[in-house]
Amino acid sequence: MKKREFLKTSAILGAGTLLAPTIASSCMNSAAQTGATASLVAQGDDGLFLQPELGYAFNALEPHVDAKTMEVHYGKHHAGYTKKFNAALEYADFHSTDIYKLFASVSTHGNGIRNNGGGYFNHNLYWKFMSPDGGGEPAGVLADAIAADFGSFAEFKELFSVTAASHFGSGWGWLLLNADGKLQVTSLPNQDNPLMDISPVQGTPLLNIDVWEHAYYLTYQNMRKSYVDAYWNVIDWRFVEALYEEAVNS
Ligand code: MN
Repeated sequence: MKKREFLKTSAILGAGTLLAPTIASSCMNSAAQTGATASLVAQGDDGLFLQPELGYAFNALEPHVDAKTMEVHYGKHHAGYTKKFNAALEYADFHSTDIYKLFASVSTHGNGIRNNGGGYFNHNLYWKFMSPDGGGEPAGVLADAIAADFGSFAEFKELFSVTAASHFGSGWGWLLLNADGKLQVTSLPNQDNPLMDISPVQGTPLLNIDVWEHAYYLTYQNMRKSYVDAYWNVIDWRFVEALYEEAVNS
Protein backbone atom coordinates (compact mmCIF):
# COMPACT_ATOMS: atom_id res chain seq x y z
CA MET A 1 0.00 0.00 0.00
CA LYS A 2 1.37 3.39 -0.92
CA LYS A 3 1.84 6.06 1.72
CA ARG A 4 -1.03 8.26 0.63
CA GLU A 5 -3.39 5.31 0.37
CA PHE A 6 -2.34 4.16 3.79
CA LEU A 7 -2.95 7.59 5.25
CA LYS A 8 -6.33 7.81 3.61
CA THR A 9 -7.32 4.38 4.90
CA SER A 10 -6.12 5.32 8.37
CA ALA A 11 -8.16 8.48 8.24
CA ILE A 12 -11.31 6.62 7.22
CA LEU A 13 -10.85 4.21 10.09
CA GLY A 14 -9.79 6.73 12.69
CA ALA A 15 -11.06 10.19 11.93
CA GLY A 16 -14.74 9.71 12.68
CA THR A 17 -17.11 12.30 11.32
CA LEU A 18 -15.31 14.52 8.90
CA LEU A 19 -17.34 17.24 7.31
CA ALA A 20 -16.94 18.20 3.70
CA PRO A 21 -13.90 20.42 3.26
CA THR A 22 -14.82 24.00 2.58
CA ILE A 23 -11.47 25.72 2.21
CA ALA A 24 -9.07 25.71 -0.65
CA SER A 25 -6.07 24.03 0.84
CA SER A 26 -3.39 24.01 -1.78
CA CYS A 27 -0.95 26.85 -1.95
CA MET A 28 -2.15 28.22 1.37
CA ASN A 29 0.89 30.00 2.60
CA SER A 30 0.51 32.82 5.06
CA ALA A 31 3.05 35.55 5.39
CA ALA A 32 6.41 34.03 6.12
CA GLN A 33 6.90 33.57 9.81
CA THR A 34 10.22 33.82 11.47
CA GLY A 35 11.83 33.44 14.84
CA ALA A 36 10.05 31.82 17.78
CA THR A 37 6.70 31.65 15.98
CA ALA A 38 8.19 29.84 13.00
CA SER A 39 9.71 27.21 15.29
CA LEU A 40 6.26 26.11 16.50
CA VAL A 41 5.34 24.19 13.36
CA ALA A 42 7.43 21.88 11.19
CA GLN A 43 6.31 20.67 7.76
CA GLY A 44 8.11 18.47 5.29
CA ASP A 45 8.47 19.25 1.61
CA ASP A 46 5.47 16.96 1.07
CA GLY A 47 3.35 19.16 3.34
CA LEU A 48 3.11 16.58 6.11
CA PHE A 49 3.39 17.98 9.62
CA LEU A 50 6.41 16.85 11.61
CA GLN A 51 7.12 16.70 15.32
CA PRO A 52 9.68 19.41 16.07
CA GLU A 53 12.81 18.23 17.86
CA LEU A 54 12.36 18.16 21.61
CA GLY A 55 15.56 20.12 22.11
CA TYR A 56 16.49 18.47 25.42
CA ALA A 57 16.72 14.97 26.85
CA PHE A 58 13.69 13.18 28.28
CA ASN A 59 15.23 13.42 31.77
CA ALA A 60 16.32 17.06 31.44
CA LEU A 61 13.28 18.46 33.26
CA GLU A 62 13.55 16.21 36.31
CA PRO A 63 12.47 16.32 39.07
CA HIS A 64 9.64 18.57 37.87
CA VAL A 65 8.64 16.43 34.88
CA ASP A 66 9.93 12.86 34.97
CA ALA A 67 11.74 11.15 32.11
CA LYS A 68 9.22 8.36 31.59
CA THR A 69 6.38 10.86 31.30
CA MET A 70 8.36 12.84 28.73
CA GLU A 71 9.27 9.72 26.75
CA VAL A 72 5.68 8.47 26.53
CA HIS A 73 4.17 11.94 26.13
CA TYR A 74 6.44 12.98 23.26
CA GLY A 75 7.05 9.57 21.73
CA LYS A 76 3.54 8.11 21.97
CA HIS A 77 0.87 10.71 22.69
CA HIS A 78 2.26 13.54 20.58
CA ALA A 79 3.49 11.21 17.85
CA GLY A 80 0.00 9.74 17.71
CA TYR A 81 -1.67 13.12 17.31
CA THR A 82 0.82 14.03 14.59
CA LYS A 83 0.13 10.85 12.63
CA LYS A 84 -3.66 11.15 12.98
CA PHE A 85 -3.60 14.86 12.08
CA ASN A 86 -1.74 14.11 8.84
CA ALA A 87 -4.14 11.27 8.12
CA ALA A 88 -7.17 13.51 8.68
CA LEU A 89 -5.69 16.18 6.39
CA GLU A 90 -4.93 13.58 3.75
CA TYR A 91 -8.49 12.29 3.93
CA ALA A 92 -9.81 15.82 3.48
CA ASP A 93 -7.41 16.43 0.59
CA PHE A 94 -5.76 19.29 2.46
CA HIS A 95 -2.16 19.38 1.31
CA SER A 96 0.49 21.86 2.44
CA THR A 97 -2.09 23.39 4.71
CA ASP A 98 -1.47 26.55 6.73
CA ILE A 99 -2.27 25.41 10.26
CA TYR A 100 -3.27 28.91 11.38
CA LYS A 101 -5.89 29.23 8.64
CA LEU A 102 -7.03 25.72 9.42
CA PHE A 103 -7.63 26.56 13.09
CA ALA A 104 -9.38 29.81 12.14
CA SER A 105 -12.00 27.75 10.29
CA VAL A 106 -11.76 24.52 12.29
CA SER A 107 -15.49 24.45 13.02
CA THR A 108 -16.06 23.48 9.39
CA HIS A 109 -13.52 20.65 9.27
CA GLY A 110 -14.78 18.02 11.70
CA ASN A 111 -13.48 16.52 14.90
CA GLY A 112 -10.60 14.57 13.35
CA ILE A 113 -8.85 17.77 12.37
CA ARG A 114 -9.95 19.73 15.45
CA ASN A 115 -8.77 17.13 17.96
CA ASN A 116 -5.64 15.87 16.24
CA GLY A 117 -4.61 19.25 14.86
CA GLY A 118 -4.93 20.73 18.32
CA GLY A 119 -3.09 17.76 19.80
CA TYR A 120 -0.28 18.23 17.31
CA PHE A 121 0.10 22.00 17.71
CA ASN A 122 -0.55 22.36 21.46
CA HIS A 123 2.21 19.89 22.29
CA ASN A 124 4.64 21.61 19.91
CA LEU A 125 4.16 24.71 22.05
CA TYR A 126 4.32 22.88 25.35
CA TRP A 127 7.76 21.38 24.62
CA LYS A 128 9.00 24.84 23.66
CA PHE A 129 7.64 26.41 26.81
CA MET A 130 9.76 24.10 28.95
CA SER A 131 13.52 24.14 29.37
CA PRO A 132 16.05 22.68 31.79
CA ASP A 133 17.25 26.29 32.11
CA GLY A 134 13.71 27.54 32.78
CA GLY A 135 12.04 29.10 35.77
CA GLY A 136 12.25 32.57 37.23
CA GLU A 137 10.22 35.43 35.87
CA PRO A 138 9.74 37.14 32.52
CA ALA A 139 11.59 40.34 31.69
CA GLY A 140 11.26 43.25 29.31
CA VAL A 141 8.04 44.25 27.59
CA LEU A 142 6.32 40.98 28.54
CA ALA A 143 6.98 41.67 32.22
CA ASP A 144 5.55 45.15 31.75
CA ALA A 145 2.44 43.79 30.03
CA ILE A 146 1.87 41.19 32.75
CA ALA A 147 2.09 43.90 35.39
CA ALA A 148 -0.28 46.13 33.42
CA ASP A 149 -2.90 43.46 32.67
CA PHE A 150 -2.80 41.33 35.85
CA GLY A 151 -1.45 43.72 38.48
CA SER A 152 1.76 41.81 39.11
CA PHE A 153 3.60 38.66 38.15
CA ALA A 154 2.44 37.05 41.40
CA GLU A 155 -1.20 37.76 40.55
CA PHE A 156 -0.76 36.40 37.04
CA LYS A 157 0.93 33.29 38.43
CA GLU A 158 -1.91 32.68 40.85
CA LEU A 159 -4.59 33.16 38.17
CA PHE A 160 -2.85 30.89 35.65
CA SER A 161 -2.23 28.22 38.31
CA VAL A 162 -5.78 28.19 39.66
CA THR A 163 -7.26 28.24 36.16
CA ALA A 164 -5.15 25.27 35.03
CA ALA A 165 -5.45 23.28 38.25
CA SER A 166 -9.23 23.70 38.48
CA HIS A 167 -10.03 22.98 34.82
CA PHE A 168 -12.57 20.15 34.86
CA GLY A 169 -11.38 17.09 32.96
CA SER A 170 -8.80 17.00 30.19
CA GLY A 171 -7.58 20.19 28.60
CA TRP A 172 -5.03 22.98 28.72
CA GLY A 173 -4.38 26.19 30.59
CA TRP A 174 -3.50 29.18 28.36
CA LEU A 175 -1.97 32.64 28.41
CA LEU A 176 -2.81 34.50 25.21
CA LEU A 177 -2.72 37.91 23.60
CA ASN A 178 -6.27 38.83 22.61
CA ALA A 179 -7.53 41.03 19.78
CA ASP A 180 -7.60 44.04 22.10
CA GLY A 181 -3.87 43.66 22.69
CA LYS A 182 -4.41 42.45 26.27
CA LEU A 183 -2.99 39.40 27.96
CA GLN A 184 -5.65 36.92 29.04
CA VAL A 185 -5.72 33.61 30.93
CA THR A 186 -8.19 30.83 30.22
CA SER A 187 -8.54 27.07 30.08
CA LEU A 188 -9.96 25.11 27.18
CA PRO A 189 -11.18 21.50 26.96
CA ASN A 190 -9.58 18.56 25.20
CA GLN A 191 -7.17 19.74 22.46
CA ASP A 192 -8.85 23.07 21.68
CA ASN A 193 -6.68 26.19 21.55
CA PRO A 194 -7.20 29.97 21.33
CA LEU A 195 -6.48 30.00 17.58
CA MET A 196 -9.62 27.97 16.90
CA ASP A 197 -12.82 29.66 15.78
CA ILE A 198 -14.76 27.42 18.18
CA SER A 199 -12.88 28.75 21.20
CA PRO A 200 -14.85 31.15 23.43
CA VAL A 201 -11.57 32.98 24.13
CA GLN A 202 -9.39 33.71 21.10
CA GLY A 203 -5.97 35.15 20.51
CA THR A 204 -2.31 34.34 20.02
CA PRO A 205 -1.06 31.61 22.39
CA LEU A 206 1.90 32.72 24.52
CA LEU A 207 2.07 29.96 27.14
CA ASN A 208 0.22 26.75 27.86
CA ILE A 209 0.18 23.84 30.26
CA ASP A 210 -1.12 20.38 29.49
CA VAL A 211 -3.47 19.26 32.26
CA TRP A 212 -4.43 15.93 30.75
CA GLU A 213 -3.59 13.26 33.35
CA HIS A 214 -1.00 11.72 31.01
CA ALA A 215 1.09 14.89 31.48
CA TYR A 216 1.63 14.35 35.21
CA TYR A 217 0.13 11.13 36.52
CA LEU A 218 3.33 9.07 36.90
CA THR A 219 4.86 11.59 39.30
CA TYR A 220 1.90 13.43 40.75
CA GLN A 221 -1.06 10.97 40.47
CA ASN A 222 -4.21 12.92 41.37
CA MET A 223 -2.30 15.98 42.61
CA ARG A 224 -2.61 18.18 39.55
CA LYS A 225 -1.94 21.30 41.60
CA SER A 226 1.52 19.98 42.55
CA TYR A 227 2.33 19.49 38.87
CA VAL A 228 1.10 22.99 38.04
CA ASP A 229 3.22 24.41 40.85
CA ALA A 230 6.28 22.51 39.56
CA TYR A 231 5.73 23.81 36.01
CA TRP A 232 6.92 27.29 37.06
CA ASN A 233 10.40 25.81 37.60
CA VAL A 234 10.77 24.85 33.93
CA ILE A 235 9.00 27.65 31.99
CA ASP A 236 11.32 29.12 29.34
CA TRP A 237 10.46 32.81 29.71
CA ARG A 238 12.95 33.82 27.02
CA PHE A 239 10.86 31.88 24.51
CA VAL A 240 7.57 33.30 25.82
CA GLU A 241 9.04 36.81 25.61
CA ALA A 242 10.04 36.20 21.99
CA LEU A 243 6.55 34.99 21.09
CA TYR A 244 5.01 38.01 22.79
CA GLU A 245 7.29 40.46 21.01
CA GLU A 246 6.53 38.82 17.66
CA ALA A 247 2.80 38.90 18.38
CA VAL A 248 2.68 42.59 19.30
CA ASN A 249 4.87 43.53 16.33
CA SER A 250 3.00 41.47 13.73
MN1 MN B 1 -0.55 15.79 26.32
